[in-house]
Amino acid sequence: MKTLIFFVDAVRSDYITRHNTPFLHKLKSENYYSELGTMLGYSAGIHPSIWTSKYQEDHGKFLVYSFEEDKSPFKWMRWLMYVPSIIRRVGISGLKFPFYASKYKNLFPEWYKQKILPVPASVDPKQAGYFNYNQSLDYDPTFFTILKENKVSMFSCATGTHPLYGEGIKIEDWAVSDNVVDHFFVYETDPVGHYNGPTSKEIHDIMARLDTKISAMYEEARKKFGDVNLFIFSDHGMVEVKGSVNVKEVVDKLSLKPVKDYLVFYDSTMVRFKVKDNTIKQQIIDAVSQIENVNHLDDTLQEKYKIRFDDDKWGNLMFLVDPGFRVFPDYFAPVKFNTKGMHGYWPDHKDSLGVLLCNRDLKGDNPSVIDLMPTMLEAIGLKDKIPKDIAGKSLF
Ligand SMILES: [Zn+2]
Repeated sequence: MKTLIFFVDAVRSDYITRHNTPFLHKLKSENYYSELGTMLGYSAGIHPSIWTSKYQEDHGKFLVYSFEEDKSPFKWMRWLMYVPSIIRRVGISGLKFPFYASKYKNLFPEWYKQKILPVPASVDPKQAGYFNYNQSLDYDPTFFTILKENKVSMFSCATGTHPLYGEGIKIEDWAVSDNVVDHFFVYETDPVGHYNGPTSKEIHDIMARLDTKISAMYEEARKKFGDVNLFIFSDHGMVEVKGSVNVKEVVDKLSLKPVKDYLVFYDSTMVRFKVKDNTIKQQIIDAVSQIENVNHLDDTLQEKYKIRFDDDKWGNLMFLVDPGFRVFPDYFAPVKFNTKGMHGYWPDHKDSLGVLLCNRDLKGDNPSVIDLMPTMLEAIGLKDKIPKDIAGKSLF
């Protein structure tokens, strides 16, 4: 059956209001609506969980940067250790700026996208050659591969060109296609939520544009196809940032040597180590656990959040900061600019949750991102093609 899917990055429930997003608000009050459970981590692991209906420890994807020396594209950064830190950090960010300013308009050659864009601007050049950039999209089977196998036609695009979701088309230019499934991925709600904040006018402006467009497309599709499935969901929410924690300062003071004793990656809300032995591990746990608003992700927590991986490419010691805090210095921000929103905290925190709206009579309390794939396949008419080994369940 004709199905419209709108995947909107980083939308939380209070983005939908009666005055700003009247269509979504009406859909929410009259049809199926729920906050949507998410995963610990970021899009790099959550998107594969959406499309495979598996936990991160089962499909193996988690974060953008891994500890994989043999695959590192950053070995060339070693010589940058002789460049003063501030010049290095600001310089690398400056190289990326024109790309982001042009909003993914395909003006840049492939080597630039592969060499320059993935570089974490503030990474330690001595350690950079031990990190790999993981944005591979080689997970299978997914919602998309199942459609393809069953010859269900699909159109997909994104607001900025995306390797999995298709070419960049702005919201106002979207149109209903003749295919069975139309999938639209809205990216900019994420960066705007980070820079302007989850309660900003800018967020509400995008939501209003989106509301008008979805409403018009739904009407158009119903005229053309009769009955239509409509799914609108997000991968996670957005939390207002109120402070930062300096883990690096504490780690640097330990009588340990980076590279020789440990490797460390400072993510935006996590700090991950790959340590040589248990004595070093305990020394780091003792010191870092003392810092306020920092939590050790021990075995019990890793089990709870389904992030017990077979190998230690994501690190063998992880910490997570409390909601509302960011790690600074991290490996990304060249200077401490004003980040107003962040995600990647405890997935059960109220502002971490995403949303799911559907015009179908769905059931099921506490739905999660892993339930989307089987639910949408059933809505399309592929109930018997839902893989047996998935972690999610259909919400029908
Ligand atoms: Zn984000």
